[in-house]
Amino acid sequence: MTVRRQPPPQHRPIRTAELLAVGSELTAGETRDTNGGELARALSLQGVSVRRVIALPDDLVLVTASFAEALSTVDVVVATGGLGPTPDDLTREALSAAIGEVPEVDPDQQAWLRDLFARRGMALPELNLKQAWLIPSATAIPNPNGTAPGWWVDRPDGRVAILLPGPPREMRPMWRDWVMPRLRDRGLGDGRLVRMLRTYGIGESRVAELLGEPMLRAANPVVATYARADWLDVRISAVDERDAGGRVVRPALQVLETAAGAVRETLAGHVLAEGETSWADLVAAAAARAGVRFAVVEAGTRGALGALLCDVPALERAIAHGPGAARDVAAWPVESDAVEVAREARVEVGISLVAHSDLTQTLLRVAVAAPADGWSRVLDLCLFQHGDHGRFRAGVAAAAFLVEVLGKER
Ligand code: ATP
Repeated sequence: MTVRRQPPPQHRPIRTAELLAVGSELTAGETRDTNGGELARALSLQGVSVRRVIALPDDLVLVTASFAEALSTVDVVVATGGLGPTPDDLTREALSAAIGEVPEVDPDQQAWLRDLFARRGMALPELNLKQAWLIPSATAIPNPNGTAPGWWVDRPDGRVAILLPGPPREMRPMWRDWVMPRLRDRGLGDGRLVRMLRTYGIGESRVAELLGEPMLRAANPVVATYARADWLDVRISAVDERDAGGRVVRPALQVLETAAGAVRETLAGHVLAEGETSWADLVAAAAARAGVRFAVVEAGTRGALGALLCDVPALERAIAHGPGAARDVAAWPVESDAVEVAREARVEVGISLVAHSDLTQTLLRVAVAAPADGWSRVLDLCLFQHGDHGRFRAGVAAAAFLVEVLGKER
């Protein structure tokens, strides 16, 4: 029997969201909910206000109640997980119960599933029929990487419920290629524009001090700092500035650009990149501009620098020595090591890093050398971070030094 479709819903732009991650393995701490964070970030970047990100066990009553609540509060609720074929996969049942609809096997979905199994030489197991279910207000979201299609459910008041499978490799393309374009069609977010400025070599409190309270407390643009492992990000977001009559007096882009310009000027020299740029991207660009290939030798860092830069095309060789080699950081002949690794790898530039992390801090010494050009530069640093974090930060510090030196010397 074909599922009856409901009339199209009332128009409702998507401004608020709630995210549910369903699965007892999440609430038992066996699996970490990464889906919630990824979806929250994608929606926030569009100016959607994410009210809650919740993990829930496979409990029909709890999940049903969460759908019911979200569908009376926010414009879109997105749930991941619990779309498998077994009885404990109950996200479809919960949403159906919350909105008072009854799932039935959809012939098109059933045919698709049968075909999927047939191509693997298997009959469709009875249990999997559940994955062919639909309710009248649901449209199936194709899953190119698994057996569980998602659901897009339109409510009569224009709200939307979306069900996606739990495995990130199935969820991501469905979200990106199917769901996002349709959410955009509904009108997504508040027209907010976002820009991330990536800073390095300056602490969060100093950045806050320099930017000042008025800027950090303003409603438009919103300027916030985020301390990441490898960057201190300054996130700026802006909406259209309107007068009392609702007319746009300054478009979002202008508000954003003015703020970004002011932040760049205030933090002069520390804003090294924008958006999602990684240290590998920066080093790759610096090496390409300088027209060099390079080699790395490091000790006491568990190969942090080589790992950070492993995707850089100009990296010819990366050698990591154990911590024994790095006891006496201050006396380490980093310059001659850098020269030697460049010569051995037959590249223009060598970089040698040695670090020692104790219980409170990490000492590091790094050299960048270009034997054929006859120059070398050395940097000694003491980082507040220690242990794995300290070693990682030592790699970042060395990458930053490499970018700086290549910019100056070549
Ligand atoms: P399937 O059809 O593959 O069973 P499903 O929708 O039923 O999909 P789950 O059974 O809930 O998904 O989860 C399958 C796996 O997906 C989990 O074991 C876990 O590895 C991963 N996963 C589920 N939810 C999340 C989440 N929120 N964040 C990250 N990974 C998740």
